[in-house]
Amino acid sequence: MIYFDNTATSAIDPEVLEAMLPYLKEEYGNPSSKYYCKAETARNAVEESRAKVAKLLGTRLEEIIFTSGATESTNFIVKGYMDYRRYYEDGKNHIITSTVEHKATLNTCHYLNGDIYSNDDPTINFFGGKKRVDRGYEASFVSPNSQGIVCLEDVNKAIKENTAMCSVIYVNNETGSISELKSIAACCKEKNIAIHSDLTQAISKVDVNVHDLGLDYASCSAHKIYGPKGIGAAYVKNDAYGIQPITALMHGGEQEYGFRAGTLAVHNIVGFGKAAEIALRDIERNRQHISELDSKLCLELNKLGFVRNTIDRASRVDGIISIIIDKKDFNNERFIKRISEMVAISAGSACSLGKPSYVIKELGLGGSETKVLRISLSKHTTEKEIFELIEILKNNI
Ligand code: PMP
Repeated sequence: MIYFDNTATSAIDPEVLEAMLPYLKEEYGNPSSKYYCKAETARNAVEESRAKVAKLLGTRLEEIIFTSGATESTNFIVKGYMDYRRYYEDGKNHIITSTVEHKATLNTCHYLNGDIYSNDDPTINFFGGKKRVDRGYEASFVSPNSQGIVCLEDVNKAIKENTAMCSVIYVNNETGSISELKSIAACCKEKNIAIHSDLTQAISKVDVNVHDLGLDYASCSAHKIYGPKGIGAAYVKNDAYGIQPITALMHGGEQEYGFRAGTLAVHNIVGFGKAAEIALRDIERNRQHISELDSKLCLELNKLGFVRNTIDRASRVDGIISIIIDKKDFNNERFIKRISEMVAISAGSACSLGKPSYVIKELGLGGSETKVLRISLSKHTTEKEIFELIEILKNNI
């Protein structure tokens, strides 16, 4: 089977696996234990990995907090910062985000806004309508332009007196659209609004130095860059006094500077560190490889005659290709199922199980949600696989 769903997750790099194995075997010490060498070894491994992730993102060591992934990082940052700002700073309680965020951000903001209590809120049916509560926060959801780009102008319009934070995805996971993050961050800074970005799909595809981007907070996951699942990082900028202005999500022990209680998953952290190191080391080679394959794929898709691009290539990163199949009877879910023995491909986000894509709707392409396919490439993808995919599309659509 050929694999074209690297946006959902990527294959673990053999070098990453090798680095992890000792921490699943003999080096099983708890890094929070004291004095004996197994604990020291584990602690050193965690700190070395923290340094590697910090280098990838361009942060200081103490600004990286390990979490279980981007979903947890975003929950921690958005809920934690909004709580801190409201209760420990100036009482501001409004957050701006976009309508094309990954659900990790979207539903966290809907939760703060009092719209939902679960991600699949049964009260919507139970009460015959949405039950809203007042959690003391307010959220605004800004639409992107027709290319899926979240623009400064629209974010600016949504800013209010009580705006505390803005959370904008950098690279969209369904379309690859690149937001105007740097200018949005600059605008936020001027107005004392904290800026968070979900960098999950941006890492290694575009430059993600958080200081160059002007970010205060960021989220990411290791498994999108050939690392293990279940591990990610939150970047939390230190203020002028070296304090991280945020409330913890996990209360308990003092791990991760007191912000994320719980025994550290050392093997996963080591895997993440190795994946970050490799991502930096091979960045140019991988980008060029993926860019060349992207060009080839687009050329071949074009020749099929029934494929339309969801957005222009200039608006997106290389490696995430969203297309619309212009055939009356085509249904993406049915098609993906039918060819599933031969190819792994998706209709959109893996986190929106079986639901029509809200991202595609937001691009003004409502009605085409069942015609969309997302093809995502990796450093392991070969030219041969591109041609195999084209043959499969040609013969099965
Ligand atoms: N944000 C984006 C843009 C993603 O693509 C994903 C993974 N689908 C996430 C957040 C969530 O990552 P995780 O499932 O590792 O928490």
